[in-house]
Amino acid sequence: MYNRTQNENGSYNTRCLDCFITIAFSVETEKELDQREMRHICPEKALAGLLVREQSIASRSLAN
Ligand SMILES: [Zn+2]
Repeated sequence: MYNRTQNENGSYNTRCLDCFITIAFSVETEKELDQREMRHICPEKALAGLLVREQSIASRSLAN
């Protein structure tokens, strides 16, 4: 999830709602926003993904 805002001069900013990092600032086009958002590797999501993976490994080894 990203929070896009528009500046008075018509350029855009976008911020990640998971880690609250500003990904792009004063970007000219929405296309560029899309690209910046796609390239964002979210530390919050990466961490959540790691935890989920560890839990599934833990539950698997318990079942064995
Ligand atoms: Zn993020």
